[in-house]
Amino acid sequence: MSERALVEERVEQLLRDCPPTTTSPRELWGAQFDLGLAWIQFPEGKGGLGLDPGMQDVVDERLLEVGAPSNLLVNMMGVGMAGPTLVAFGTPEQQSQFLRPTFTCDIVWCQMFSEPGAGSDVAALATRAERDGDEWVVNGQKVWTSMAHVAQWGLLLARTDPDQPKHKGLSYFYVDMHQPGVEVRPLRQMTGEAEFNEIFFTDVRIPDSQRLGAVGDGWNVAIATLMNERTMLGRVGKLTGQEGGVIRHALRLWSQLPPDERDVARRDELMRLWIDSEIVRLTMVRAEQSRSQGTPGPEGSIGRLLVSEHQRDVFEFVVNLLGADGMLISDYEMRRPDVIGETALGPDDKVDLQKGFLTTRGSTIGGGTTEISRNILGERVLGLPKEPVTDRDVPWSKLDRA
Ligand SMILES: Cc1cc2nc3c(=O)[nH]c(=O)nc-3n(C[C@H](O)[C@H](O)[C@H](O)COP(=O)(O)OP(=O)(O)OC[C@H]3O[C@@H](n4cnc5c(N)ncnc54)[C@H](O)[C@@H]3O)c2cc1C
Repeated sequence: MSERALVEERVEQLLRDCPPTTTSPRELWGAQFDLGLAWIQFPEGKGGLGLDPGMQDVVDERLLEVGAPSNLLVNMMGVGMAGPTLVAFGTPEQQSQFLRPTFTCDIVWCQMFSEPGAGSDVAALATRAERDGDEWVVNGQKVWTSMAHVAQWGLLLARTDPDQPKHKGLSYFYVDMHQPGVEVRPLRQMTGEAEFNEIFFTDVRIPDSQRLGAVGDGWNVAIATLMNERTMLGRVGKLTGQEGGVIRHALRLWSQLPPDERDVARRDELMRLWIDSEIVRLTMVRAEQSRSQGTPGPEGSIGRLLVSEHQRDVFEFVVNLLGADGMLISDYEMRRPDVIGETALGPDDKVDLQKGFLTTRGSTIGGGTTEISRNILGERVLGLPKEPVTDRDVPWSKLDRA
């Protein structure tokens, strides 16, 4: 039986056993994991079937077609980053503890990399983890941590050796977000909502068994997480198929406009956006097919870059179509959402066009800015000369970090 036939058979079995209309999302996701349809490239028994990652499209597209709920917006950091990082670097015990509950969203994750002085240059981070017997004691601050207020566990990159150059003195841990010394404070965004947070660590004790990868090798683990993040951010946009992405908001609004407002200049712009949406979709299909099996490479940055800029452009067009109403936000109430990006990317009844416009500005920054994505694509996909670097071999403690 071909790989595709096997996957199609399993998806139909899933839909027979757990019809999405009568099954709770968690039960459906659990059954999806058990059938190896969660992360199709993972080994059998770990939510996958050991197949080409491109086969995940077959699953996602069929589930989308029948209106099954997606867990990506509920647990973006868990499904998109923690799961793949645990499969690459975790022990079998860690994998059996976390993989299934992560996919069912019983365990939600956040990712704690960025700091006030270290965003694009995340390897410059200052949060310190000092060894104390079988434990590490963590002090420092993280920022822009999406969904930390609902996360039970967090992925943490911290400095374990300040005398090594910045990329070499890092180690990678996972942390219980409810343990003493971890403080999560909301950061309010221009929509009024606080989807992300600041995290303060004060003498937080982490067992050494919660380290992923070797001491000092945290950068390599983090790169694996970030590559998966970019692929996942692209996947969120792609899940939707032709005319199913954010372009549908523009098309719907256009069809409701009085004929005298459908002028040729706007029609031209809409056509350009429609073509862009197809280019984004097809480029991502191609990037995924050319991706090496298993571990995603820099191609993930293609999808992440195109999707985020396209979303921003479509919402800008939509808000322009709304005219004066486009300037009015429905409310500025402080909320701490339990689903990420719902006002911009969620189901149609949850999407708020004006807030979507404001939210998608951030999509071009989160997960690496568009400038950084272009640098990665230039250097690692197109083979252009590298950006000059002067601090790669200097001990982190000697860097001028003013
Ligand atoms: C919606 C959202 C969600 C986020 N979620 C998380 C999260 O869950 N966890 C987490 O750890 N972080 C998260 N972040 C943080 C995000 O990863 C950082 O904001 C991002 O990496 C940029 O870092 P910075 O904000 O420090 O900007 P800076 O790095 O200070 O960049 C400022 C400007 O300089 C440009 N720039 C910097 N370096 C270069 C260069 N070498 N070449 C060209 N241009 C450059 C940037 O593109 C940008 O325009 C999130 C951010 C957003 C907006």
